[in-house]
Amino acid sequence: MVYKYSYSFHILMTMAFLFFLEPIFAATVNDMRVWKAPDHTRLVLDLSDPVKYKINSLQNPDRLIIDIEDTSIKKDVLKFDLSATPIISVKSNKKEKNHLRITLNLKKPLKPKHFKLGVSKKYNNRLVIDLYDIKKIGGKETSFVIPNDGLRNIIVAIDPGHGGEDPGAIGPKRLMEKHVVLAISQELKKLLDQKSGFSAVLIRSSDYYVPLRKRIKIAHKKRADIFISIHADAFKKPSAKGASVFILSRSGASSETARYLAKRENSTDLIGGSGSVSLDDKDPILASVLLDLSMTATLNSSLDLGKSVLKSIGTIARLHKNYVEEAGFVVLKSPDIPSILIETGFISNPSEAKKLANKTYQKKLAYSIFKGITQYFSGNYPIGTLLASEKLDIERPLYYLVLPGDTAYKISKKYKISVKKLIKLNNLKGDKIYSGQKLRITDK
Ligand SMILES: [Zn+2]
Repeated sequence: MVYKYSYSFHILMTMAFLFFLEPIFAATVNDMRVWKAPDHTRLVLDLSDPVKYKINSLQNPDRLIIDIEDTSIKKDVLKFDLSATPIISVKSNKKEKNHLRITLNLKKPLKPKHFKLGVSKKYNNRLVIDLYDIKKIGGKETSFVIPNDGLRNIIVAIDPGHGGEDPGAIGPKRLMEKHVVLAISQELKKLLDQKSGFSAVLIRSSDYYVPLRKRIKIAHKKRADIFISIHADAFKKPSAKGASVFILSRSGASSETARYLAKRENSTDLIGGSGSVSLDDKDPILASVLLDLSMTATLNSSLDLGKSVLKSIGTIARLHKNYVEEAGFVVLKSPDIPSILIETGFISNPSEAKKLANKTYQKKLAYSIFKGITQYFSGNYPIGTLLASEKLDIERPLYYLVLPGDTAYKISKKYKISVKKLIKLNNLKGDKIYSGQKLRITDK
């Protein structure tokens, strides 16, 4: 009896000692990553298990405090690259009751938004913190709407798939879709910007994630005429190969119409990028007819655009199917912007992956997409554009309305007029121009 007692007492003491040395945590922070987007910085904490947490902002100096209950942090997790972010430094320390405190020292006050993500195919539990820049009151966004007396460029929204947290498909040698499609998109933008009558906007311009619905919203905000989403496929079988072009499926379109009508969310400006028919003041039946008409017209245009791009890509790349395919991809769901999604090839196919990673091939691909786009517009020129004026042989526009990012040099090249002449015609002091300025571009 005595023997038995002392034995269990011994075990008890050993266990107590072990507990004292190694507290059992509910979760561990295994990794931390940071992505910089134009209007916010995303911080992702990879966690072994779901956690309870609290986030507080402090001032003087600006800090963000992340308190996580019952959690430990792996060594070296805080050693990540903070350059180009508004974060000066990151520190962690233990608080009472095994609580972990992570402190971010910030360069300026930022507004945090945060949420938890559960286990997915690629990731374990995560805590996501978005740090938003605080907008200055009175700051106005530049409008892309052009008044009637100036002819506008055709605006192409280029949407490089995935980004940031989401690498997309991963090929041999860890070649990531997000990097390949961004490189092709940047080449495509360059080509379009150089072409008279066209300008391009990138839905994402570096390595960060943009939610799918937001991609459509950005295209609307930029008054895009068309939307081109660029991807690279993956398939279980490494032998799968070839490029494809997709448009929205009919079922995807009708479910989207139903969704818009049910929600009536942001229905202002829904139809007609520049013509803008608002559905706000329409009765439900009329609204549904208008939306249906718009969706059908958009789908028809998407198909024509898709055919033109597919044909052009077919001159340089093997095609997966020789017709435009249909799918319910969310990014294709604009009711008023013709939209296509290009799968540039199979990143899971070793020989295609090698090509897709190659700069020269990326340029060739971008050029073939560019050709497909310009060929489509040579038969479908939106009224009010510079291209339409050229096609309809309307007299050269007298004025050009300066867009954000324009320079005197860029405009002079586009309208085949010297910078000197541009300065003279507009009585400018130098070659400085500003967005919204109306410039005379001909002396006729
Ligand atoms: Zn993709």
